[in-house]
Amino acid sequence: MNKYESAINYFKIKLDVAKLFEEDDKENAKMQMCFYKIAIEALDKQIPKKPFEPAFDVQVLNNNKRCPECGSYIIKAEQHCPCCGQALDWSEEE
Ligand SMILES: [Zn+2]
Repeated sequence: MNKYESAINYFKIKLDVAKLFEEDDKENAKMQMCFYKIAIEALDKQIPKKPFEPAFDVQVLNNNKRCPECGSYIIKAEQHCPCCGQALDWSEEE
């Protein structure tokens, strides 16, 4: 487990705890849950994911692949998706 996965697990636990208090303390618990979800989403983008091969269509040029998160076309060697910021894993790509 890397540091991002550890932090995601921490925030998931905090999110579960906030859910327990959702009924008693609506405003504060809902705000906390919202921020924890944002934190989890942001941290998850730091974990490199493998781009995928696009289905054949007219937009496929120069072996471009697609972002696993948002599906945008990406150029090899980009470390992050220019559209959504997802970290990209190019290992085993030759
Ligand atoms: Zn993306």
